[in-house]
Amino acid sequence: MREAGASPEAAAARASQSEGGDRRRHRLIGDVHKAYEESSRLLPGCWIVVRVDGRAFHRFVEVHNFARPHDRAAIGLMEAAAKAVTEEFADIMLAYGQSDEYSFVFHKDTDIYNRRTSKFSTLIASLFTSHFVLKWPSFFDTPLKLAPSFDGRAVCYPSVEMVRDYLAWRQLDCHTNCLFTTCYWTLVDRGGKTGKEADKILNKASKGFKNELLFSEFGINYNDLPPVFKRGTLLLKRREQVELRTKEATPYTPAGTPYSRTLTHVDAFHEDVAQGDFWLKHCSALFSDQTKRIEKLETMPGDEQAASKESPQGGAVCEHGPA
Ligand SMILES: [Mg+2]
Repeated sequence: MREAGASPEAAAARASQSEGGDRRRHRLIGDVHKAYEESSRLLPGCWIVVRVDGRAFHRFVEVHNFARPHDRAAIGLMEAAAKAVTEEFADIMLAYGQSDEYSFVFHKDTDIYNRRTSKFSTLIASLFTSHFVLKWPSFFDTPLKLAPSFDGRAVCYPSVEMVRDYLAWRQLDCHTNCLFTTCYWTLVDRGGKTGKEADKILNKASKGFKNELLFSEFGINYNDLPPVFKRGTLLLKRREQVELRTKEATPYTPAGTPYSRTLTHVDAFHEDVAQGDFWLKHCSALFSDQTKRIEKLETMPGDEQAASKESPQGGAVCEHGPA
């Protein structure tokens, strides 16, 4: 309310002064609290790997009655969630997943979130979890009975070789898990063993023993298992240059004006990721110094809307389209 006798201008100036004071006070309080929030930052110039890992998934798998030893729907769901995360960030170069985990490799020059460690780990874990829940009905007829959750950690690697070693390590883990779970559930489901008995047989058993057990007692050749079970899934970004034509005329270009556009796809592979040939053919280009970023995934080939998007000056703009 305006003070008696005060001019509207003076009252407004006083109010504004007091508002300004409030804003300054809030900013100071904010600065103090933000100082406590300061989190570590991921080292500059290093490749960033964020790995998400399912929490208490033994129970989750049991409650949702996943097929054993491997559930194709669950593998498909994990892949779909990982693809969605990979598409969301231009700076994710590739992703690798197996069992209840996925790793996302960010370009070494990424500057998103000021490279704050907690932002990377929490955001990727929560985004992955959201997609896992959203896409569940596309893979399972039964409803979700438990809330899935994934933890996340962000790690820096100083060289491409270290990233490659990291991927090889996670893939070795996939091989080990695959062989163990195949043996375990074959002993339980076909061999009539209890879980404890199967554990006792397999505990500290060599890889050769497990292979032989599967082959001689159950006629299963481990090498014949589908590659996705043994090697997990590698998601790689691929660019494609497509030639399109605008549908509508703009003040600057007639309808049918040709333009080119870069589309980005995410392809799935089930190969030995660190193997020389595969790495050279599919991965090394992603890590070259020339490759700074991969564009955000476009929704549809031939989506000409962007070509005639109005610029603030009123002209038609398109990153890869006609000028
Ligand atoms: Mg886990």
